[in-house]
Amino acid sequence: MPATTTVIIGAGHCGLAMSHCLAARSIDHVVLERGDVANSWRTQRWDSLRLLTPNWMTRLPGYTYRGADPDGYLRASQVAAMLEDYAGASAAPVLTGTPVTSVRTAGAGYVVRTGQGTWRAATVVLASGAATVPAVPALARLVPAGITSVTPAGYRNPGELPPGGVLVIGASASGIQLADELCRSGRPVTLAAGEHVRMPRTYRGRDILWWMDACGLLDQGYDEAGDLVRARNVPSMQLVGSPGRTVDLNALSSAGVRLAGRLAGIKDGVAQFSGSLPNVCALADLKLGRLLNTIDAWAGASGERFAPTTVPTAPLGLDLRSGEISTIVWATGYRPELSWLDVPVFDRSGRVVHDGGVTASPGLYLIGMPFLRRRKSSLIDGAAADAADLTMHLAGHLDALAGRCERSA
Ligand SMILES: Cc1cc2nc3c(=O)[nH]c(=O)nc-3n(C[C@H](O)[C@H](O)[C@H](O)COP(=O)(O)OP(=O)(O)OC[C@H]3O[C@@H](n4cnc5c(N)ncnc54)[C@H](O)[C@@H]3O)c2cc1C
Repeated sequence: MPATTTVIIGAGHCGLAMSHCLAARSIDHVVLERGDVANSWRTQRWDSLRLLTPNWMTRLPGYTYRGADPDGYLRASQVAAMLEDYAGASAAPVLTGTPVTSVRTAGAGYVVRTGQGTWRAATVVLASGAATVPAVPALARLVPAGITSVTPAGYRNPGELPPGGVLVIGASASGIQLADELCRSGRPVTLAAGEHVRMPRTYRGRDILWWMDACGLLDQGYDEAGDLVRARNVPSMQLVGSPGRTVDLNALSSAGVRLAGRLAGIKDGVAQFSGSLPNVCALADLKLGRLLNTIDAWAGASGERFAPTTVPTAPLGLDLRSGEISTIVWATGYRPELSWLDVPVFDRSGRVVHDGGVTASPGLYLIGMPFLRRRKSSLIDGAAADAADLTMHLAGHLDALAGRCERSA
């Protein structure tokens, strides 16, 4: 059975960032990847997707964007190419086509089984992704026959959907981007919006993420968040990677998208929407105002304010058997897939319990989850600092293990 000091599971940007940091400390490791490097950017993104983070924010340990368009937004294929180059430049020891099928504790370390053999390691880093599978609510099974259901991970472009109207469920980044694309393609689109994070693309002449980065908001630590559970569940920002273009609910309804409240149920083929749309829009407006106030306080000057969300008279029901809707897009979020992790570190809802990525199982680490250690932990730009912190903890754990061995020798 081959042995190494650390097994990293997943060769997305987080796994590669961890590999870079471990290599800098000469910690022997392998990166086990079920597909190719950057698998999720190759297999789970729609054709038109661009990062919502500007190119200058594409920073990893030992890598910064040096292209000609720092304010542009990379396509998914460009992200995949960038990560492939990064893995090559870092000489990351990636074993592709190696799906991990189980991780168990064994003595002071772990046994990691894969489709290509079994590894022994003192430490394991779970970098298999926070957005590995779409999180579709159970009520999706009540959708009448004849309606096509897709998720953002399976959707590619409007031309692949059957002709007819589309109901998009969810108004976070994926939902608003797909509602926008489908509406522009000439489809009648209804968007069911629950709680969402309204965001202008630009503020006072700069990308909103420039302000959030500059004033330190994205660096806020997990120990500074008032309600960490809530902070870790905040929906993604309503942003699209298109220079200067804001795609919020006002923009979408002006373009012809019909807004409805959160999908609350499906009964006898009728989609039932919550009447909370005015409330969730008021909350999103309020939070946007607070964000801009924070930025203004940091900048020492005040800027423009945006018109409140115009809330139309929204439908409370939509008959899915009427023929009006041919497709439902479940843009209801994503979740990790860790069914192969056979170590008791889960809470009752199936999430890994961790303290900034450090689990209760000594030597088992997690990276890439929302607000893992910082507000930016789920962004590419968050991996460098998180990987550096976790590498330091992991190195300390190895030192402690070595000390224990010396004492018992
Ligand atoms: C639609 C979408 C758009 C996003 N846009 C942005 C953006 O604009 N800017 C930004 O900064 N972030 C963005 N993100 C967030 C984030 O950057 C991505 O989710 C990113 O892919 C996460 O990186 P990761 O390395 O944690 O996970 P992943 O990229 O998902 O990598 C995990 C890897 O683990 C592998 N894996 C999983 N299970 C196993 C197993 N059992 N055995 C072996 N390998 C396994 C997978 O194949 C994959 O390659 C976006 C996310 C999504 C879903």
